[in-house]
Amino acid sequence: MNTDDEVMRFFERNFPDAIPLMPTLLEDFHHNPTSALVTVRCTPWEVAGRTLLLGDAAHAIVPFFGQGMNAGFEDCTILDEMADHYGEDWNRILPEFSSSRAADANAIADLALNNFIEMRDLVADPDFLLRKQITAHLHEKYPDQFIPMYTMVSFSHVPYSRALAEGKAQDVLFDRILAIDDIADSWEDNPSVDAIFHAWRKEFPN
Ligand SMILES: Cc1cc2nc3c(=O)[nH]c(=O)nc-3n(C[C@H](O)[C@H](O)[C@H](O)COP(=O)(O)OP(=O)(O)OC[C@H]3O[C@@H](n4cnc5c(N)ncnc54)[C@H](O)[C@@H]3O)c2cc1C
Repeated sequence: MNTDDEVMRFFERNFPDAIPLMPTLLEDFHHNPTSALVTVRCTPWEVAGRTLLLGDAAHAIVPFFGQGMNAGFEDCTILDEMADHYGEDWNRILPEFSSSRAADANAIADLALNNFIEMRDLVADPDFLLRKQITAHLHEKYPDQFIPMYTMVSFSHVPYSRALAEGKAQDVLFDRILAIDDIADSWEDNPSVDAIFHAWRKEFPN
């Protein structure tokens, strides 16, 4: 879009309800260029027990899981727990934090990238919506054995790397469940769903 007219036409077509809320829309549009969304993966995060990267500086991620700030806050709580545990022995804490936390940072980076595909392609997909319904059903029926991956990431302190591994295992479960004949009409009281679930949980213990 090169002219003010083109910008206004774009917003009128796609976001008409937002226009009255943005009285300086054209000015803002020209002065706030879009920037790239990046993933930062780096290691180590510490130097000589004296300097430590935390938050986005260590592990910026794309925003599609809404976890960037959360991951930074989690860095703080884990670092605080380590300080209590090791009696503020920073020469020990910083290397251990840096080496143990990186796996979780890489996991949430992967989850955030995957969630872009989910938001872009899947939210109107009938199989995806069916999976969501069966997910909620299994969680209600087996709350100790089955926690949806999204719930693990967004509403628990389960480490991101464990949530990512459980998410991959749940993909296997749903490949099997969604292959049942007429599953869309029978999932609520279909004994095959329970049988597949129990066999799967044995194969992939939580
Ligand atoms: C579009 C978008 C949507 C997002 N949505 C969510 C969400 O829903 N949920 C969520 O949890 N997170 C979300 N995030 C991510 C979240 O905003 C970041 O993860 C978080 O702000 C990172 O905090 P930080 O303190 O690590 O880094 P920053 O917020 O980047 O803070 C770093 C600070 O350091 C300052 N600084 C830089 N260089 C220097 C220097 N040399 N000297 C002094 N100061 C310096 C900067 O000015 C800045 O104030 C989103 C991000 C984006 C871009």
